[in-house]
Amino acid sequence: MTNVGFQHILVLMETGPDIVIIGAGPSGLVAALTLLQEGQRVAIYDALPKGQNSSRAAAVHAHTLEVFRPFFGFFCRLTPLQQLHTLGYAEALVSKGIKGQGVVNYDRTTPLVQISFPEYLQGVTEFPFVLLIAQHEVEHFLEERLNELGVNVRREMRLKEVEASESEGIKLTFENGETATATYLIGADGSRSMVGF
Ligand SMILES: Cc1cc2nc3c(=O)[nH]c(=O)nc-3n(C[C@H](O)[C@H](O)[C@H](O)COP(=O)(O)OP(=O)(O)OC[C@H]3O[C@@H](n4cnc5c(N)ncnc54)[C@H](O)[C@@H]3O)c2cc1C
Repeated sequence: MTNVGFQHILVLMETGPDIVIIGAGPSGLVAALTLLQEGQRVAIYDALPKGQNSSRAAAVHAHTLEVFRPFFGFFCRLTPLQQLHTLGYAEALVSKGIKGQGVVNYDRTTPLVQISFPEYLQGVTEFPFVLLIAQHEVEHFLEERLNELGVNVRREMRLKEVEASESEGIKLTFENGETATATYLIGADGSRSMVGF
């Protein structure tokens, strides 16, 4: 029995990662980090040669975008910052941004609406502010953490085709002709996802 178990471990080690993630934006990177911390074997692919440097999200909200953390055990309702905190990264990320303390809307020079985040969020969250930080900086930070855990994003790998069968699992074909297999596939390839549609 011991031998059979050992061979089984060898077979597992010889095969590729169980979980393949397509897309190394914020969703794919956080999914990869979370799964690695859960002890899963993960590979992550992206079509781009390097992380995006475009002007997109400028803020990480502590409480407005509560989500169910994708989880392997209990369901926890955590904010994105709490998730990063759970991963152990929140403080380092906060130190890279600016703690937005509030918003004031003006009609020319007359203030119309004034919101103080510390006032509204105190006691609701551990992070009573809006973290002002560019999305590409967040992505760069997350990718560095991923590299520290021994996983590099496989870049210039645009997924072209997905085939799934019960006997052979999931087979992925990339535009450059390379293939990969997986037991589970996560589509984090953005709003025009080819995995999801
Ligand atoms: C102008 C603008 C402003 C925004 N402002 C805010 C804001 O202030 N706050 C906020 O919360 N959100 C904002 N957003 C939205 C935010 O940018 C998105 O919600 C976020 O990028 C989604 O992350 P994602 O990881 O799901 O997808 P994406 O960031 O789109 O990442 C998807 C990744 O998948 C890769 N990919 C796609 N197809 C394939 C394929 N076939 N094979 C391999 N890889 C593939 C792409 O190269 C990309 O790296 C803004 C968006 C825009 C455009």
